[in-house]
Amino acid sequence: ASWFGHVEPAAKDPILGVTEAFLADPSPDKVNVGVGAYRDDNGKPVVLECVREAERRIAGNLNMEYLPMGGSIKMIEESLKLAYGEDSELIKEKRIAAVQALSGTGACRLFADFQKRFLPDTQIYIPIPTWANHHNIWRDACVPQRTFRYYHPETRGLDFASMMDDIKNAPNGSFFLLHACAHNPTGVDPSEEQWREISYQFKVKNHFPFFDMAYQGFASGDPNRDAKAIRIFLEDGHLIGCAQSYAKNMGLYGQRVGCLSILCDDELQAVAVKSQLQQLARPMYSNPPVHGALVVSIILGDPELKSLWLKEVKGMADRIIGMRKALRENLEKLGSPLSWEHITNQIGMFCYSGMTPEQVDRLTDEFHIYMTRNGRISMAGVTTGNAGYLANAIHEVTK
Ligand code: PMP
Repeated sequence: ASWFGHVEPAAKDPILGVTEAFLADPSPDKVNVGVGAYRDDNGKPVVLECVREAERRIAGNLNMEYLPMGGSIKMIEESLKLAYGEDSELIKEKRIAAVQALSGTGACRLFADFQKRFLPDTQIYIPIPTWANHHNIWRDACVPQRTFRYYHPETRGLDFASMMDDIKNAPNGSFFLLHACAHNPTGVDPSEEQWREISYQFKVKNHFPFFDMAYQGFASGDPNRDAKAIRIFLEDGHLIGCAQSYAKNMGLYGQRVGCLSILCDDELQAVAVKSQLQQLARPMYSNPPVHGALVVSIILGDPELKSLWLKEVKGMADRIIGMRKALRENLEKLGSPLSWEHITNQIGMFCYSGMTPEQVDRLTDEFHIYMTRNGRISMAGVTTGNAGYLANAIHEVTK
């Protein structure tokens, strides 16, 4: 008898499928703008210099003991300063319950499980579109999902009016997932003024904002600037949740280091919430991995290494911003009659180009350019060497 005969293969992940096809293509011209991981101007993965130095310091006195259930205290402390502000009163008042999480994904999932366990009657409002895994995370946590409008296909910008309508029309006290900066996949963020209006409306409606902050520092080059949305909500006195990841901004993708925090009314509540987050983690993975957390706490805990990190994260952001300019200028030079302003208006890892699935298919079939069929270009895959080739191909298929 076969126990597993009824198990069908799972649907292929659309992003990993792109990488597979790219690797199988023998063309010397091939370009991968599918994957959401930073590359240097030669298309190579990067290990930051601050990370290399932290590794050197660890090598001398490494032990492999378990971390506490909630993870590295030092890493959490530094993460909270990064998200809530260096001198945040909320940190001093110990009002934030926080645990180390398995990168941004794990932080989101832990929160979703917490939501299911302690607020079982709530739903989560998710922007359309969003990072596809958000849907999987809250689905597997058995939290019902609703959506709110976010992106305007014609302007390739924010559909602010519809977003505000959906916020107003949601039942009072709804949970919303917000991208703190560098919205994935659109690269479209609200302006500071718009964030203030959103925050105001959340107050009126008593909604709960959960910020997924996977790109702090990676968007503008300045972690404080990228935390602006969160700081606005804090100024307005909201209680918030926040998922942080060091995958992009420290290049620690495979180390799986992140932080989940939940701002509470007072210290007593924060202690209770933290203990319950640990209780959720215990039967899943017991305690989080030690190495990446050590790297992060060494870097953020040492003023010299921290300033090196700030320089390097700005370097990554600047390269991407530069490639946005290059791609747009090349398209304009080719005489494309279409508007490509959105390439430089959007921010972060991705450019939501507005190309159709059929146009993307032509890019792949005729030009060996690999990306997801939703038209999302990973700007990290664009280099000085391929920006012209890419622009020419985009121009050809959008004529
Ligand atoms: N949230 C968003 C919006 C993301 O784009 C990503 C990375 N693709 C993540 C969370 C999580 O990434 P990680 O688990 O590697 O930190």
